[in-house]
Amino acid sequence: MFGLNPVFIPGPTNIPDRLRNAMNVQTLDHRAPDFVEVFAPVLHDLKKVFRTENGETFIFPSSGTGGWEAAITNTLSPGDRVLIARYGMFSHRWIDMCQRHGLDVQVLECEWGTGAPADRFGEILAADKGHEIRAVLVTHNETATGVLSDVGAVRAAIDAAAHPAMLFVDCVSSLGSMDFRMDAWGVDVAISGSQKGFMLPAGAAVLAVSQKALAAAEDARAHRCYFDFRDMRVANTSGGFPYTPPLNLIYGLRESLDMLFEEGLDNVYARHRRLATGVRKAVDAWGLKLVAKSPDLHSDSVSAIYVPEGFDSNALTDHAYNAYGVSFGIGLGKMAGRAFRIGHLGALTDVMVLSGLATIEMAMKDLDYPIALGAGVAAAQEHFRNTAGDQVRAAA
Ligand SMILES: *Cc1c(COP(=O)(O)O)cnc(C)c1O
Repeated sequence: MFGLNPVFIPGPTNIPDRLRNAMNVQTLDHRAPDFVEVFAPVLHDLKKVFRTENGETFIFPSSGTGGWEAAITNTLSPGDRVLIARYGMFSHRWIDMCQRHGLDVQVLECEWGTGAPADRFGEILAADKGHEIRAVLVTHNETATGVLSDVGAVRAAIDAAAHPAMLFVDCVSSLGSMDFRMDAWGVDVAISGSQKGFMLPAGAAVLAVSQKALAAAEDARAHRCYFDFRDMRVANTSGGFPYTPPLNLIYGLRESLDMLFEEGLDNVYARHRRLATGVRKAVDAWGLKLVAKSPDLHSDSVSAIYVPEGFDSNALTDHAYNAYGVSFGIGLGKMAGRAFRIGHLGALTDVMVLSGLATIEMAMKDLDYPIALGAGVAAAQEHFRNTAGDQVRAAA
């Protein structure tokens, strides 16, 4: 394996050479002044990606799951009620974590393939006259189903109910790939990670926290130590870290932010939309169906695709890997065996996407799927031909 083929899993994503090189650095004393010069601007520039001016950003050495834990343990106390909907494996795991932390978790069961039910949240919040619900938790992009939820609509529902609940959003697989607006949507804790839109290895949980959530952190009684916002803030204020920082990832983040800003965030989102649209055209041409129920729910970072009745999606992803050395996302949870996923986020071009579509077509053909070789590729090619131009070349 020479690592020549891209991965089409929805994270960790392909790491551009520029980022791998940026992380190839000798040890720097994190208590020396040079570290501050690197680190402080990274924290500052992350705010631009979250689109927040009022929030504060944090980096914890952890995968995204640690970011969830930071969000809930810093702001809540055991027994506190939180409202969350389950519509995929990631929302499911966040629910499980909340329960294990002793929160009173009010779960709305939603069909997989749908998103956060803003109207039902609104009804529940309006009925909660005593304001027992302390936080509403939303998985912005449900990576298991390829569903993007409307966080702005959830905010509007909270406001319409005049409810003081905080809003926590998992944007691990959307930040840096799709539009995210912390301040405009009134998000109190936004949680992301280094290994998706930032195009880096896993290892840094990246959070943005509102002043309201920081105030809640003063009163919260959940046990916390490693992920304590207060310790991190005190250390960050003097330019440091409360423990050893993941230095290479911080260098990586510096370069990743530079890449995102050079391309321009809106262009980054447009690129993801274009690539995702090409994939969706291929899915149509194959005669297959997305797990996402309707176009307004389509994710631009990952597509979850049902295999036809009588086929096993795990056999397909196994075969694509074993025969061609290309990884696609497997079906998670309820989707196991029923759907496979094409990750199309991070450092990716139309040319790379075409190679993925061509590969999965070969794998499907090998396994006697009722598709014609080239059908999906041709549909995506048409879309890419019609939307090519300077911006596409510049990002390649
Ligand atoms: C990848 C991902 C996470 C984080 O998972 P880790 O493996 O802990 O980094 C959380 N939520 C969503 C929606 C994700 O896609």
